[in-house]
Amino acid sequence: MIDAVPHSDTFDPGEGRGLAILGSTGSIGTQALDVVRAQPGKFRVEVLTAGRNADLLIAQALEFKPNAVAIADEAQGQKVRDALWDHDIKAYSGAEAIAQLVEMDTIDIVLTALVGFAGLRPTMNAIAAGKHIALANKETLVVAGEIVMRAARDQGVDILPVDSEHSAIFQCLAGEFHNPVEKLILTASGGPFRGRQRADLSHVTREQALDHPNWDMGAKITIDSASLMNKGLEVIEARWLFDVPAAHIEVVVHPQSIIHSGVQFKDGSIKVQMGLPDMKLPIQYALGYPQRLSNDFPRFSFADFASLTFEQPDLTTFRNLQLAYDALAAGGSAPCVLNAANEVAVAAFLKGEVGFLEMSSLVEHALETVEHVSKPDLETLFALDTAAREAAGARVTPS
Ligand code: NDP
Repeated sequence: MIDAVPHSDTFDPGEGRGLAILGSTGSIGTQALDVVRAQPGKFRVEVLTAGRNADLLIAQALEFKPNAVAIADEAQGQKVRDALWDHDIKAYSGAEAIAQLVEMDTIDIVLTALVGFAGLRPTMNAIAAGKHIALANKETLVVAGEIVMRAARDQGVDILPVDSEHSAIFQCLAGEFHNPVEKLILTASGGPFRGRQRADLSHVTREQALDHPNWDMGAKITIDSASLMNKGLEVIEARWLFDVPAAHIEVVVHPQSIIHSGVQFKDGSIKVQMGLPDMKLPIQYALGYPQRLSNDFPRFSFADFASLTFEQPDLTTFRNLQLAYDALAAGGSAPCVLNAANEVAVAAFLKGEVGFLEMSSLVEHALETVEHVSKPDLETLFALDTAAREAAGARVTPS
């Protein structure tokens, strides 16, 4: 059941692991660079990429001296090239440049910390080029989990989870590769609206939804956390990453976010991984795997947490989690459609074009109307992603 779990004993850290950080200007990307900064000699930054934040990408390039950078927004390309041309750092622009840069010889591991469907193409290219993947971009596995994991197995590359829940499960599975798993236990903070009823959520604002109690993250995943779509995406991610069917993946709400997730084995024993909520730890674990690198991150103390609590998720109020389980059960292209419609829904919510509860309706509409393909290849998934965006987008009135 867990054969897909990586076991990179031969992943030699050498004199400094060569990194490509896709999405270096975002929440995960900047924290990854904090990790690199704090571990001199352990990593070489070879490639940095951004969406459109040229100023931060330039500053990062001047500090970390990568071989090359790329920015997705073509309009920002000249600014980046002008700033870096006399620093011996190659600068490119456009999505295709990002997808190609990951193939560079000097890269050992690609951290996919860009957001959304945009992560799929570069991740597939990196796998095809034999690069290990530190995977933050969960959307890649949601859209094409079976295809991605098969490609990784064929190429003999590791998919090392960065998501804190999946990192926790991965850590619990270390040394247990031949022991049967009974279930995976994914913890969820419950987000800012935990305990609310549906009627309470019809008029919540963007600012309220962005105010996550425990984690400081990019806007898209923060909204996904508030709507519990994030947990749904994580169930799908876990299904492919660990090759465990959805019926054996349980979500438990744990508001303190101290237990990051766990595994129950066939003998009933449960292992969990715990610590303060700080993404730098799972990022460092993935980049340094299989080594545990020392650090000075704040430590958890049992004395500071008199109680850790647990609840069942409310699938009636937070329909997105149920929709994700349903899409996983439907299989084939359904998770791809779910993801695309959700990306449209979150962007529309952030612009004030739809209400909080309408996000689920957009996703449901796309799942009901977009063609279902039971064994899609990659190109079919690209076409269905577009179709799902159109279906969901047709229900949004631009502001
Ligand atoms: P952010 O929004 O903070 O950062 C996203 C990064 O991707 C930025 O560097 C952004 O560039 C870049 N980007 C955005 N759109 C594109 C595009 N079309 N093409 C290329 N690059 C693009 O997101 P997070 O760091 O929060 O999340 C990144 C991924 O990690 C997501 O998949 C998320 O689900 C996952 N994740 C995040 C966690 C967190 O704590 N933040 C925890 C677990 C998983 P720019 O800023 O220049 O526009």
